[in-house]
Amino acid sequence: MDLATSVSQLNRVGKVLEKKLNYLGIETVDDLLNYYPFRYEDFSEICDIANLQEGTEVTVRAKIELIANKRSPRKRKIITEAIVNDGTDSLRIVWFGQPFITKILAVRDEVFFSGKVKNDMFGMQMVGPAYEKATNNTTHTARIVPIYSLTSGITQKQIRFLMSQVIDLSRDIKDWLPENIRDQVDVMELPEAMKAIHFPESNDELRHAERRLKFDELFLLQLRAEMIRQSIKRSTAPKIKFDEKKIKKFVRGLPFELTKDQKISAWEIIQDMEKDEPMNRLLEGDVGSGKTVVSAMALYDCVLSGYQGVLMAPTEILAFQHFQSLGALLPDLEIILLTGSKIEDRRLRIIAKSKNRRRDEAISFIKNGEVNIIIGTHSLLTDDVLFKDLGLLVVDEQHRFGVKQRKKILEKSGNKKTTPHFLSMTATPIPRSFALTVYGDLDLSIIREMPAGRKAVKTRLVDPHNREKAYGFILEQVKCGRQVFVVCSLIQEKEKATDYGLRTRVIVDKKSVLVEYEKLSKYIFPDLKVDFLHGKLKPEEKNETMAKFKNGEIDILVSTSVVEVGVDIPNASVMMIEGAENFGLAQLHQFRGRVGRSEHQSYCFLFTDSDSKSVQERLTYFEKNNSGFDVAEYDLEIRGPGEVYGTNQSGMEQLRLATMHDRDLIKIGRDVARGIDFDKYVGLKKKVEEWELNIHLE
Ligand code: ADP
Ligand code: MG
Repeated sequence: MDLATSVSQLNRVGKVLEKKLNYLGIETVDDLLNYYPFRYEDFSEICDIANLQEGTEVTVRAKIELIANKRSPRKRKIITEAIVNDGTDSLRIVWFGQPFITKILAVRDEVFFSGKVKNDMFGMQMVGPAYEKATNNTTHTARIVPIYSLTSGITQKQIRFLMSQVIDLSRDIKDWLPENIRDQVDVMELPEAMKAIHFPESNDELRHAERRLKFDELFLLQLRAEMIRQSIKRSTAPKIKFDEKKIKKFVRGLPFELTKDQKISAWEIIQDMEKDEPMNRLLEGDVGSGKTVVSAMALYDCVLSGYQGVLMAPTEILAFQHFQSLGALLPDLEIILLTGSKIEDRRLRIIAKSKNRRRDEAISFIKNGEVNIIIGTHSLLTDDVLFKDLGLLVVDEQHRFGVKQRKKILEKSGNKKTTPHFLSMTATPIPRSFALTVYGDLDLSIIREMPAGRKAVKTRLVDPHNREKAYGFILEQVKCGRQVFVVCSLIQEKEKATDYGLRTRVIVDKKSVLVEYEKLSKYIFPDLKVDFLHGKLKPEEKNETMAKFKNGEIDILVSTSVVEVGVDIPNASVMMIEGAENFGLAQLHQFRGRVGRSEHQSYCFLFTDSDSKSVQERLTYFEKNNSGFDVAEYDLEIRGPGEVYGTNQSGMEQLRLATMHDRDLIKIGRDVARGIDFDKYVGLKKKVEEWELNIHLE
């Protein structure tokens, strides 16, 4: 028998049990060993019967003096009753409905009993304890006992019995960690850890085993990120020489003073781009912290060195907005907007009328290097656009950029020999523990402080009976010249009376926006300019509405979550959110970030019909906390990383024992992984590659 042996070969595994094991993903001995307990019961201390305390979980070692089955007086159940004695005193033990026990245990047997002590009218007793004949090598009693999560039909006793058959084979498991790394991290050997995770001799040993196995899980993710980082660093990037004079002039010409964090971030980026290895950096800053101007500096610096720059946005609305703001910031550059519905050129060189012809013209300008900066959506990656000497790629509002996408860019960059620098921007803060594991391939720049003069957005969870008041407040704001967003969830349930007079719940798809629009424009604010926006409109229509809103031709914009990220309307001062319970906190924070982008005091009103306790708790937390970092931390605690970061393909879900709370292991692992020489540690590299084959990452 070895690690590859099928579990069907094990003692007492028949067809039925084999099937159940397979259902748990256990086919071989190796799989079985890798099936960790999810908790333990500590029965390791042996108590004297004379000292038993009511309510405690204990193990006693005692001789059976009497054992017999009898029928319970009222119910027709069989009770097995035993009297046992350990020399200090005797104890009554009962089991219900397990008559076979009298065939296993007999008078004079020396047995361990593990279970809870009760004291009732029969005196001290144990009900339904685990039992096992006393030897020095027990499985179910008199030790720290593993508890596995099981499918119905397999008992703890069965799986422990199987485990005890194979546990000695754990010595054949190959330790993939070299000894010097084990020493450095101070973890036990893998075979030892595997044995101890199932049958720990002590709590201390269990802690060490867990530490080793957790480290393995985290370290694999870290090594993978490091491999990606190193392979990026190995390629050559265009050197972007820092044009100090022109950049300083650009900064002096801004209508505001850059914040300290903006300056530091820009400096980190500029220094990265001076190297001949590609930058791979994430610029992180709360909504409204001013990331765009930092990216504009980077793009400008790149253009001054004679290279092209690309700015990719997640939506057409945002691409168009960037086109406008970069155009204003960098009036001397040739900037083109290239999206599915809109092709614009600041110099108005594109003259064709039809979309296809405009597109062809734009593409040829880009290819010939007659354009400095190209702004578009992700379709720039897949379309037939070829760049000319691409120096920098900026991706807005997306913190992950896959290896595949990176390859695509390389193919289109117009220079086969160099890999462009890469800057990603996000308003979703990444906790440090994440940054040190799954995001280990990225360097981080963080904008923590907000531009001076900003007033914190006042957030209020509004009671339904105060709705009228909120509308009154909105009217006042508009009278003062401000603008208002009203966000509705895409899908809203509504009650509707059917022909039969029954009330049924129907889903009113997207109509919630239209219903709300009608209500506001006809009945609540008939004198104001109200308009609406949702995802099903044509891109042209969306752009037009956004442009009108930006120009102040609309007072109140009713919309779905399409305005979630990036939209910059400094004059808007109220964000009103209907059905707030339908959004995650990180998303609500994005909405809130649409206002408070100028010196005007801004407000965020949340409405919900739900009085569920958890909803109220969540929204109240949001009401009281203004920092995106705090909100993200909280969201992470209650919803988990997958929901908040969409980490479904990042490898995070591979963690079984480790969590993001294992901060010291994360720190040590990252220190060891950083800069590791994979030529020297070929085994580690192989292990990562094998692991990647087994799971399906992006
Ligand atoms: P985000 O980081 O959310 O992308 P933006 O780049 O859209 O934020 O900036 C938000 C607003 O703040 C914009 O109107 C921008 O012009 C302005 N802004 C950026 N930096 C500063 C600054 N240092 N001082 C004042 N206003 C600034
Ligand atoms: Mg932005």
